[in-house]
Amino acid sequence: MSRTVSVAQVDVELDHWIGGRRVASKETFDDVSPIDESVLARVARGGPTEAAAAVAAASAAFPAWRRTRPEERAAVLHRIADGIEARLEDLAMVETLDNGALLRSHRKGVMPRAAHNFRFFADWLLKLGHEDFETRGHRNHVSWDPAGVALLITPWNAPLMLATWKVAPALAAGNTVVLKPAEWSPLTASMLCEIARDAGLPDGVLNVVQGIGEEVGPALVGHPDVARISFTGSVPTGRRISAQAAEALTPVSLELGGKSPLVVFADCDLDVAVSQAVEQYDNAGQVCLAGTRLLVEGSIREEFEQKFVARATAIVQGDPRDEDTDIGPQVSREHFERIDGFVTRAKEQGVRVALGGGPNLELGGLYYRPTLFADPEPGAEIATEEVFGPVLTIQSFDDEAQAVVMANDTVYGLAATVFTGDPEKASRVSSSLVAGTVWVNCFFVRDLQAPFGGSRQSGIGREGGDWSFDFFCDVKNTVTSPHHWKGGTSP
Ligand code: NAD
Repeated sequence: MSRTVSVAQVDVELDHWIGGRRVASKETFDDVSPIDESVLARVARGGPTEAAAAVAAASAAFPAWRRTRPEERAAVLHRIADGIEARLEDLAMVETLDNGALLRSHRKGVMPRAAHNFRFFADWLLKLGHEDFETRGHRNHVSWDPAGVALLITPWNAPLMLATWKVAPALAAGNTVVLKPAEWSPLTASMLCEIARDAGLPDGVLNVVQGIGEEVGPALVGHPDVARISFTGSVPTGRRISAQAAEALTPVSLELGGKSPLVVFADCDLDVAVSQAVEQYDNAGQVCLAGTRLLVEGSIREEFEQKFVARATAIVQGDPRDEDTDIGPQVSREHFERIDGFVTRAKEQGVRVALGGGPNLELGGLYYRPTLFADPEPGAEIATEEVFGPVLTIQSFDDEAQAVVMANDTVYGLAATVFTGDPEKASRVSSSLVAGTVWVNCFFVRDLQAPFGGSRQSGIGREGGDWSFDFFCDVKNTVTSPHHWKGGTSP
């Protein structure tokens, strides 16, 4: 008998999903809801045994899955998308209880996007191709061969959306998958298993191992039968995974943290810049791409800061299930304390608090007030380290050259946002910024066909569109001579 829990009247399985069946572990871990810190579920706590079983199941399922025609795989992926859409309400509610992000965002943006991940990569698979070309009469044919077992390790801040962003291209490519979701928000990954089974995905093609990263992760990462590792998470974990994977030369794709600049020039549309700057508090600041360093041209600095503080003061913080809530709690007590540590140290160092500056004492629990620190010293921890909470800094610059230097002055390079009314300046500045994504006069516009990833310590590699298939496949060139066919005819 498998173990389930009822979360807001939705039954969720708590054990691993290996080879098309539920597999229990002796131990469990507590999955706590950030909304009230109650224990939502006791989830199977995997270790090396479950890791080995999952990779074995994925390896066994690989030969048959890789032989399926692209049209068949695409059809299964579309049916998984149908299944996500059919269970959208359940998924949205469970995710909100599990990670504390807004229910209305899950309903309107995140879960539809999870379904779209499957539709997009199903359709992209059918378009994938490269024109054959000739070399001295010989035909070059490029193909994308499935690589084998793909290990996918994902974080808690947008659990199903970030998991499906990897699961969909890995399956489309013809790989089989072992997914390890974050222990802070493991439930929707579990729900995806039955959705995929009901969509006709063969047993063993998708496997989910639950557990604590440090306990089960190394056994998965170091497994010799894993052909690809795609990881989204923090820089320290990415570094550990990369080092371990290097032993077996397993290719890794790392999508890591950031401390992205949001650069505001005096010639921009100030209201747009202010309102998009305030959006950096979305998801309680737990967004890898957030522009957490506001760099504002000196001549408009005062006006910008006043307008920003006025708008940010109006942010409604509260229960993420309420329609009028703008931001909910932080994901866990441990993460909340980590954020508070950054804020406390910055205050001790004398950095001016322009907004917030501590926990929301009215709401209690894991609610942290949107916070803005003004003019930290260059190199200060609060201006250089990723906080991953509702904590921004604001600094001024005098001219374009200084703006670029300040924007690039961290070890990260995930994203950057620029506000200016001058297209030439926008072009000069964006080409000088070190970032995987640059937004000009907009924020968070993302297309799945675009390359996505980070530079410097924000990651290795790019995913999205062709880039996902390049990573999840062995790209092969077959060169064929026009001569030497039996009977002497060319095909
Ligand atoms: P994390 O690194 O703590 O954990 C991520 C995942 O790695 C979890 O599933 C965890 O269980 C697993 N893990 C931990 N130790 C492991 C090990 N030794 N071996 C294998 N797996 C291990 O990150 P987090 O706190 O869950 O997520 C927040 C971080 O993720 C932030 O730094 C954020 O910027 C980053 N992030 C990046 C992107 C992006 O696309 N670049 C997107 C979302 C989040």
